[in-house]
Amino acid sequence: MSDPIIDVRDATKTFGGLTAVDRVSFTVTRGEIFGIAGPNGSGKSTLFNLMTGIPYGPTNGEVRFNGERIDGRPPHAIARSGLCRTFQKDAEFPDLSAIETLQISAVYSGGQSAGQALENARRAIDRVQFDEARAHMPSSELSVYEKKQLMIASALVSEPSVLMLDEPASGLTKPEIERLDALLVDVNKSGVTILLIEHVLSLLLSVSERLLVLNQGAILAEGLPADVVRDPAVAEAYLGG
Ligand code: ADP
Ligand code: MG
Repeated sequence: MSDPIIDVRDATKTFGGLTAVDRVSFTVTRGEIFGIAGPNGSGKSTLFNLMTGIPYGPTNGEVRFNGERIDGRPPHAIARSGLCRTFQKDAEFPDLSAIETLQISAVYSGGQSAGQALENARRAIDRVQFDEARAHMPSSELSVYEKKQLMIASALVSEPSVLMLDEPASGLTKPEIERLDALLVDVNKSGVTILLIEHVLSLLLSVSERLLVLNQGAILAEGLPADVVRDPAVAEAYLGG
């Protein structure tokens, strides 16, 4: 039967009088690609923040990872336990090469030695099919797609069991989105559970086994993508939002 890797119960995050995430509960099954959709401002990024503790945990509710409570743990402890994420805005080091960026990520996220970090950096480069020849040039010279590959590799460098991606397709062309689609499927097949926030619906519907839709911080719909997109409440939220 289903093997839960993440269990979120009644997660809530308030900012003063605003409830950005409102008693959200869901379970992610080990090995799946779990999609998260919703109009702008519906609480998607806040949900990732409270799950990873970066930069805050939930105001109320519980987050379990492999059956253990992680809400309230420091962000580095959550990352080291195997829950890693990317951000909507990729913080890059323009002067550093991809391989240097990944070595730094490895040292900080995994607490690894320099030698181990280089090995993991090379493995991460491989896993995202980054062009070896371009791994040594300054990151500022990389293409938009290569920066995305680097962002994903940075999250993979500590070999997480769960990868959380916040709108990775933004700024990509259609053929690049198709490459990203294949890359995510490939990473998932290597045993990584993926949580994907994405406003590019073609990508979300193509890769997600299940879909959660947020609206104004609360769950609007959840289920198989084909069923969720047919839900009139979902169309209403997108058109009215
Ligand atoms: P999404 O990622 O779905 O676009 P967010 O999670 O970024 O939405 O934001 C959800 C709501 O919470 C929005 O109304 C946003 O303005 C608000 N919000 C997010 N972060 C903060 C913050 N640090 N302080 C105050 N309000 C915030
Ligand atoms: Mg967001």
